[in-house]
Amino acid sequence: MVIEKQAIGDDCAHKVEILCPNCDRDIDPQELAANKCNDCGHDLSDPKQNVEIHATSVPAFAITF
Ligand SMILES: [Zn+2]
Repeated sequence: MVIEKQAIGDDCAHKVEILCPNCDRDIDPQELAANKCNDCGHDLSDPKQNVEIHATSVPAFAITF
């Protein structure tokens, strides 16, 4: 018996990183809320955003009994 399973469509996930425009460090939600980088004290009213898109395509697989 052969059961075939196919992934339906493509799984896409994207991640947005908020970085300090001055020192490029990852910003915590708390720092963002305070509008100030804890590392360099830079104003975060206009933070740098890094968008990553991950496409995870699951290959079709088959189980053979
Ligand atoms: Zn900074």
